[in-house]
Parts: sequence; C-alpha cells; structure tokens
Amino acid sequence: MNPISTLLEEGPVLGDGGYLIELERRGYVDSGSGREKVGTGKGSGQFTPEVAIENPDALRELHLEFLRAGSQVLQALTFFGTREKLNRAGYGAQTEKINHAAVRLAKEVAGERALVAGSVSRTQLLEREGMGALEKARDHIAEQVRLLKDAGVDLLILETFFHLAEMRVALECSAESGLPTIATMSFRPLITRCTDGHTPAECAKRMAEQGAIAVGANCEQEPNRMLPLLRGMRAVVNVPIAAQPAAFRTTDDCHCFTRQPAFPDDLETIQVSRREFVDFGKAARSEGIGYIGGCCGCNPAYIRALARGLQNAK
Ligand SMILES: [Zn+2]
Repeated sequence: MNPISTLLEEGPVLGDGGYLIELERRGYVDSGSGREKVGTGKGSGQFTPEVAIENPDALRELHLEFLRAGSQVLQALTFFGTREKLNRAGYGAQTEKINHAAVRLAKEVAGERALVAGSVSRTQLLEREGMGALEKARDHIAEQVRLLKDAGVDLLILETFFHLAEMRVALECSAESGLPTIATMSFRPLITRCTDGHTPAECAKRMAEQGAIAVGANCEQEPNRMLPLLRGMRAVVNVPIAAQPAAFRTTDDCHCFTRQPAFPDDLETIQVSRREFVDFGKAARSEGIGYIGGCCGCNPAYIRALARGLQNAK
C-alpha cells in the first residue's frame, strides 16, 4: 500500500494550512489587489507561487512551522503553478523551475517526518474562456502533473476546482501519472452546487469513481459552513472524506469568502477564530473526515488547533 493510503487507514490524517494568503501577509506573494477582480478574466498573476524561486527561505520557514504544528502531509507550493497561470504573472518560462523548486523545498523540510503532496488547482481557463477551453486546460494540467511526478512527490492533491468537468480532466491526468490522489472541489457562491451545476454528492461520487483515494472540499468557507456539504458527500462514497476549509466567515447569502467585499485587502475583518478549528478537529472522527487540514487564512496556529481537537477527541 502507498504511504498516504496507510496513513488514511490509521486516520484522521492531519494536513497543513494555506500558503498563499499567509505568504501574502508576510509580504512574499502578490495578491493582484487593485489590478484584477477574481473571475473577471483581466489582469495578471495574482496569488501565484513564484515565491518558491524568489524567496525560498520564506517558504521553507512556513513549511517548517506547519511541520512543527503536526502536519503529516506538506503540500508543495505548486498551487496556481500551471504554465497558463504563471504566464499571466510573467513567470511562464520558469514553470519547470518553480514546480521543481517548490517540491524540493517541501521534501527538504519533510525529510522522513511527513509526506509531500503536489498541489494542482484549476487553470482559470474555464472561467476566462468558457467550457471550450477544457482541452487546453488538460494540456496545462498534464504538464504540471508530469513535472510534479518528476520532482518526486508522494501524492497529488487536486484542489480548488470550481468545475467538475475540469476536475475530471485533472483526475485523468493524475491516473496517467499513477500517483495516489486526493480530490477536493470548491463551492461558490453557495455550497449547494459547483460552477457547472453538480451537487457535492454528485461531485464526490464521480471523483471516487475516477480513482481518488479521498474526496471532499477545500477553501471558500469556514468549517461550520462546509460541514453540511461534507455530510452530503460522505453519504454516497466509501473512500475517506477530505476537508480543508478556509478560516474566513461567510454569510447566509454568499457561502464563499472570495466574493465577500473583504477579499483580498480586508480579510482580517472576517477572520474566523482558531477555536472553530479545535471544534472541527474534535468532530473529524464522528463526522467521518479522514483527511483534515486548512486552506486560505489557516496559518500554523490553526493547524495546531486542529491537532489539539483531534487529540481531545481520542
Ligand atoms: Zn483557499
């Protein structure tokens, strides 16, 4: 059995938190603030991972902090690391270099103490150009998956996909690589359906059918808002549920933080306390969550909170 499946069997597995928002706060990542409104299709390279080559020490330090907090899996910072997205930030020519450096840093910190996951997310091509861009997206995702495999990741985490269609393409690419894969969708503006109209349960079923070893949701909502959708997924699959919620408060009308007026410059005003993550950690076992971590807004304090919750539940 591969190492991540073994861990999941012992479960729940503690993942890590969100890198880009935390490194943006520390001054090492460009939020694109003022130049691009998310989803408009204009602008540059907001929240891209060039920090891996521009300021590797900053990234190394954050990996180390997550490891010390108890993370059993470190995600290489390859989120938004397809050539498509990096091109818009002016880093397209360094796609190989950025992906390889990110994996190398994570492996260096992890050593024998944690597994390293390659993070693969949506290309943003579907939001910009429509469903006709799906094959172009496939080429970019396939390229990144090959780079991550070459760099020696233990597993892949496919995350923050808004369209199930693009997730399915990514799962085809990951199947080709032979790497064990965790797959999580993101839901906005409401948790009831993804952007191409599928319920969380439908998404979970399709992702599991395509071979994901754990399925679930990440980003966009805080733990309490995400829980109902995770339960919907849990009811229809036999694989473990994976959850990496954001640490930002959403509203009954809008279940996603990236469409709150506070995004991206006033996020501190909607920050959720780490106490909610202690409770989420406590609930992981009874809620049947097999992989638990955090996404945007979750710094190492939040992962320590999750770890404490998991321990208290035992
Ligand atoms: Zn996130």
